[in-house]
Amino acid sequence: MNKEPVSRELFDEVMVPNYAPGNIIPVRGEGSRVWDQEGREFLDLQGGIAVTSLGHAHPGLLGALQEQSEKIWHLSNVMTNEPALRLAKTLCDHTFAERVFFANSGAEANEAAFKLARRYAWDHFSPEKHEIISFKNAFHGRTLFTVSVGGQHKYLEGFEPAPGGIHHADFNDLDSVKALISKEKTCAVVIEPIQGESGVVPADPEFLKGLRQLCDDNDALLIFDEVQTGVGRTGHLYAYEMYGVVPDILTSAKGLGGGFPVAAMLTTAKVGASLAVGTHGSTYGGNALACAVAQKVIDTVSQPEILKGVNERSEKLRQGMMAIGERYGVFSEVRGAGLLLGCVLTDQWKGRAKDFLAAGLDEGVMVLVAGADVVRLAPSLIIPETDIDEALERFETAVKKLAQ
Ligand SMILES: *Cc1c(COP(=O)(O)O)cnc(C)c1O
Repeated sequence: MNKEPVSRELFDEVMVPNYAPGNIIPVRGEGSRVWDQEGREFLDLQGGIAVTSLGHAHPGLLGALQEQSEKIWHLSNVMTNEPALRLAKTLCDHTFAERVFFANSGAEANEAAFKLARRYAWDHFSPEKHEIISFKNAFHGRTLFTVSVGGQHKYLEGFEPAPGGIHHADFNDLDSVKALISKEKTCAVVIEPIQGESGVVPADPEFLKGLRQLCDDNDALLIFDEVQTGVGRTGHLYAYEMYGVVPDILTSAKGLGGGFPVAAMLTTAKVGASLAVGTHGSTYGGNALACAVAQKVIDTVSQPEILKGVNERSEKLRQGMMAIGERYGVFSEVRGAGLLLGCVLTDQWKGRAKDFLAAGLDEGVMVLVAGADVVRLAPSLIIPETDIDEALERFETAVKKLAQ
């Protein structure tokens, strides 16, 4: 096999052009540090977009993967599967859930959630009760159903006709939901407790409580898409705990596998019963390697000292970014929760989030954007505090040069 280093040019020769990756080619990672082909070191505040929840090459995850890889990799879903059942039991023990469905990505977990919501209404009410209410600027994945439920029409352009029966309300505006919801037609309301992709915008606690009430009044299911906010990201195992609002269905992916593809849909026994034998499935869903790794992630992240550590790191990072923001007049606000932070650009810098990402890379720190106006941070939940200090120093140098 050819193991020569690859070049950025190869991307354009062999890949569909749906991504536009940068010129830096990371080849190795350890903890919150990453090295590229040339041996240049980066501090990683991207976390693979809220995925590598325990950093790179975490010894516990390596051990779990190695151990399972020597036993059995994959079983069909006609067999009973030890790692999948252990993980499902753990997820149920730690959350409101009583039933679990495994998938491989956030989009697939959401696809299962939306199908379940329709099927549940079909089982218990009527086929007319099939409408889904979601929110403008929401992001739920890229399958045709999930992208239709998502709230950015540009992602649907050229892919229509889209699935029907989907309405978009205004985030944090209960009246806009009231105007759309009905007992006869609405089967579910789906929301990200913190809108991630569109700018790290937290829901107001009162708004989520109001949604819960509206759903109850209209026999509609409340679905929390916690693909980005889940698995300790907000300093709670799942963000619904922070809000004190319990959904009927919750989807989890990204951080769940710490870098190994796995996703889960969590629900109650009553609702879950509607995905009866034969109604839904996934070949790789519940894969033994994936579940063994996710087990280690959940066992680690659910420890109170880890979650407490997320909040401590959050404060440090938030204050550091706010200080940089004030010194150079670049950020008006740092919002979000735990280690999902959005640094909102001031009017003067609006639209230039990408420049901050590029400037960071030049100084050896990897940050993310969320839309054009927000610099997003989603580092490892156990990033060493000294790495936060160093990342802030490097980022300050980047901002200083940019602002010159
Ligand atoms: C990333 C994301 C998804 C999609 O997850 P994939 O694994 O890319 O399919 C869905 N919902 C939210 C909130 C996300 O952040």
